Amino acid sequence: SMASPALLMRVVASAYSVAEKAAAIVRNVMAAGDLGIVEKTGANDLQTKADRLVQMSICASLARKFPKVTIIGEEELSTDEVTEELIEDGHCEEILKKTCPAQYTGIKEEELVIWVDPLDGTKEYTEGLLDHVTVLIGIAYGGKAIAGVINQPYYNYEAGADAVLGRTIWGVLGIGAFGFQLTEAPAGKHIIITTRSHSSTLVNDCISALNPDSVIRVGGAGNKIIQLIEGKASAYVFASPGCKKWDTCAPEAILHAVGGKITDIHGNSFQYNKEVKHMNSAGVLATLRNYDYYASRIPNTVKQSLVA
Ligand code: AMP
Ligand code: MG
Ligand code: MG
Repeated sequence: SMASPALLMRVVASAYSVAEKAAAIVRNVMAAGDLGIVEKTGANDLQTKADRLVQMSICASLARKFPKVTIIGEEELSTDEVTEELIEDGHCEEILKKTCPAQYTGIKEEELVIWVDPLDGTKEYTEGLLDHVTVLIGIAYGGKAIAGVINQPYYNYEAGADAVLGRTIWGVLGIGAFGFQLTEAPAGKHIIITTRSHSSTLVNDCISALNPDSVIRVGGAGNKIIQLIEGKASAYVFASPGCKKWDTCAPEAILHAVGGKITDIHGNSFQYNKEVKHMNSAGVLATLRNYDYYASRIPNTVKQSLVA
């Protein structure tokens, strides 16, 4: 008889369905029109009703199925208000059919850490830049991002009424990443993608030093990684603190699953064990290809301003 699928594959398969439920919540809150915006640290650090409901939905749904897994979500919420309609218990059959890489077959629940950004790009969500928004579920083992799900609830929303709205991208190291068309950025061009709502002199000085042919300023860490793997940009450069572990975990797993690379601005890899500091204090540098070109051109003055 068939052995039951490895824990990692069951977690990814469930995270896929949980992220689709999350996307429906994101769309429903916007459609209902009452965003319930709360400022966290300030006007550029917002939380909406969608961030709150989605975090409850994702964390409660995954905790119910995988009670010993550590789940760390962006939003600070009381956990006692989770209603049954927020629970998703489905899973993606296609993912369960994939073979778990040998080095991950023995993983136990206690050894997994799930990093949840219920809504990445909240500022843009409140401004109607809906395709910047993603739902991020990153899965870490041994301090490394090994699997991830990125849902883009408003993918295709400008493509007309016939287009299917929303998509789910998923990946596992050693298997690959699915749900999008892997595309190389234009050869010989340096297209930098960066923040739109968290810029600073340092952020802009760093970009200038890379001699860009063009600069794309959009919201969301998830959104920017999608643009890298779809060939819209050649490097994601953010020389600033502000990005957190839940912003980078799922994107990192998917980018690494297709041969890309993400580090801080010094070239150090991110750690995702449960005790780690949440803030990525030394910024972000990510590429699908030609990582060394960009890494070698980050000015020392920029590096000295960003301490890990
Ligand atoms: P951005 O590229 O500005 O959309 O940032 C990517 C992620 O990092 C989003 O989740 C932002 O909320 C977060 N982030 C970046 N910079 C800051 C900041 N200065 N304050 C709060 N969150 C930030
Ligand atoms: Mg975020
Ligand atoms: Mg968020």
